[in-house]
Amino acid sequence: MSDKNTSAKIQTDIILLKQGEIVLKGLNRRSFEMKLVSNVNRRLKQYGNFHIYAVQSTVYVEPRDADCDISGAFEACRDIYGIVAVVRAAACRKDPDDIFNTAKVYLKDAIENAPSFKVESKRSDKSFPMTSIQLSQYVGGLLAEEFPDTPVDVRNPGFTVHLEIRDYSAYVHGPAVPGAGGMPVGSNGRVVSLLSGGIDSPVSTCMAAKRGLAIIPVHFFSFPYTSELAKEKVIELGHILTRRCGKMMLELVPFTHIQEEIRDNCPEELFTIITRRFMMKIADAIGRLNGCSGIITGECLGQVASQTMESMAVTQEGLELPVFRPLICLDKTEIIASARGIGTFDTSVLPYEDCCTIFTPKHPKTKPRLKDVLEAEKALDVQGLIDEALENIERIRL
Ligand code: ATP
Ligand code: MG
Repeated sequence: MSDKNTSAKIQTDIILLKQGEIVLKGLNRRSFEMKLVSNVNRRLKQYGNFHIYAVQSTVYVEPRDADCDISGAFEACRDIYGIVAVVRAAACRKDPDDIFNTAKVYLKDAIENAPSFKVESKRSDKSFPMTSIQLSQYVGGLLAEEFPDTPVDVRNPGFTVHLEIRDYSAYVHGPAVPGAGGMPVGSNGRVVSLLSGGIDSPVSTCMAAKRGLAIIPVHFFSFPYTSELAKEKVIELGHILTRRCGKMMLELVPFTHIQEEIRDNCPEELFTIITRRFMMKIADAIGRLNGCSGIITGECLGQVASQTMESMAVTQEGLELPVFRPLICLDKTEIIASARGIGTFDTSVLPYEDCCTIFTPKHPKTKPRLKDVLEAEKALDVQGLIDEALENIERIRL
């Protein structure tokens, strides 16, 4: 052991990311892990040059130089799906005195300000000469001498000093904070997500991403009935979502001609349902063109006329891709709480019109019959209108 009185040099301040469910994935685990590491890599690029790798259910984020913004990276990591806990740690040599010296410097303020503390150790390197309990007792004893005003309390400590002995290094840290949970974005395939400017669809989009789906957001706009500001609002929502969903390509679909055709040729009470069927068909086409395996919407049972069980059945009729509605059984209060959590609520409530709210019938059918809807659609060149919209899509990299 080295001299316990040498003043510690903190070698590196690093970030440890504890993997969540992906550790259960058996043989696929490696590919899940690689997906997570590449997501973390992409997400942290803007914070500097980091070495990022996964070992033993943990992703290590080590700064390569002094220019790295560790605090920024730490905050960003909290939003990355596939991680259950995030903690900043100091790395040091696997030597008990070096570990003590590191803890003494790195956690000084936390220990001094805590009502009590204890030390807890874990070692995955079984060749380390002390057991976990011996190491905790050794370092705990030295820390107790160093910080005589903070009593040791092993049952109910105000602060826990964590020591980890791993393959390459020892790590010293305080308590971890919760991560975003879920699975790495892209580890479960890809979907199209219908993104309006409302409160609900950013939440459904994040829920899909949280279960490991990569997202292609699709937005319909009806300029000049909906304003340029409404479009900008959706782009802004898309930018906020990238924190959790990763980089995305937003597809902006011009919808004016379709809506005018519906208004001019279909019975008023069916405007909404036919409009929504067009959205779904276009989403279905975009999804098939981009190798997606489903469509996500922010629909919630009973919220508006188009969100009855009967309406939803008619909207999804004839599609190739399955439609998933993560919010279907949530209450509005629950959805709003989620929207606040993901940071989209304040933008969503900005008051711009959505194309769903133009030409709305006074008495929309809440229980439309498919037969009537198909009959009404005969007045339209459905495929021609869809093709025209697809040809004029505007794409924005988020
Ligand atoms: P939201 O809060 O997400 O706007 P909502 O409660 O206002 O939902 P609707 O306007 O009926 O309900 O929309 C239901 C779903 O249809 C939305 O959650 C979204 O997935 C999709 N949607 C509605 N309008 C658009 C649009 N302009 N572009 C893309 N998707 C849309
Ligand atoms: Mg809406």
